[in-house]
Amino acid sequence: MIKVIDGKGIAARIRGEVAQAVKEFKGERAVSPKLCVVLVGGDPASQVYVRNKEKACQEVGMIGEVYRLPATASQLQLNQLIRQLNADRSVHGILLQLPAPKGLDPISALDEISPDKDVDGLHPLNMGKLLRGEELLLAPCTPSGIMELIITTGISYEGAEAVVVGRSNIVGKPVALLLLQRHATVTICHSRTKDLADVCRRADILVAAVGSPGIIRGEMVKPGAVVIDVGTNRIGEKLVGDVEFESVKEVAGFITPVPGGVGPMTIAMLLKNTLQAAKNLTTKQS
Ligand code: NDP
Repeated sequence: MIKVIDGKGIAARIRGEVAQAVKEFKGERAVSPKLCVVLVGGDPASQVYVRNKEKACQEVGMIGEVYRLPATASQLQLNQLIRQLNADRSVHGILLQLPAPKGLDPISALDEISPDKDVDGLHPLNMGKLLRGEELLLAPCTPSGIMELIITTGISYEGAEAVVVGRSNIVGKPVALLLLQRHATVTICHSRTKDLADVCRRADILVAAVGSPGIIRGEMVKPGAVVIDVGTNRIGEKLVGDVEFESVKEVAGFITPVPGGVGPMTIAMLLKNTLQAAKNLTTKQS
């Protein structure tokens, strides 16, 4: 019997745990964890995402603030804003909402974020620690959310064949490294992979992070596999994943839906990271 992984429910549980931990933290340290989200330009989807992050912070008792720069902002202005937030002791987490408008170099801005406040886990120092296999204090949000979802299935990582389709810095590579850290045997696929179906069929754990609607079909999945669909593709009004849900659910043991799978986990993990950053920083400063 196929099991649909309830990302929404798992994310709600984590948010509840974070809310409780924030309450305790505020009681002990008399400090409110604070996340600053930097948004450059007026991309409509990004506007919605930053508002959701702001609201999610408030719901767990944290401060969430959005800093808006016009689309015409220069790289210097953006980097200066980040440096200002780095220096502000009341700020514990900084997130640059991507994509940045054309003409700006997001990598240069991400590199400016203090590694201690890098709640997205994208700073080279935090990425380097992930590569070295160190236990991370601030792991990238979507990949660590994916790991939380996989854990709920009860599958053992050790020696499991894990196939990650996609090699981006924000999803594919870090999730592959987290799986490797848990002793899975990991294969990463990308646009030049020769026989995608053949590689995917080996997977006990299959993570699809491509951005191509329905690229993973039932005949590409090993019976009983755990299938995690990261893709969020808009087709008209509808949001669909990278996994063809109808055919894959006939074969897989577990599957995440879109929406309601990986998506809600990203914000839950962002909140968890912000609290963690606040704990680390207040310990360092005391
Ligand atoms: P990118 O576009 O950065 O990366 C896509 C990857 O897919 C690339 O590595 C690319 O290969 C690979 N790819 C493209 N075509 C194929 C193909 N035919 N076969 C195999 N691999 C292919 O995307 P992201 O990693 O940023 O995002 C992936 C998806 O996840 C998107 O739909 C995005 O919206 C979603 N997403 C969802 C999040 C959530 O919270 N739910 C968070 C982040 C992303 P190559 O490197 O060779 O070009």
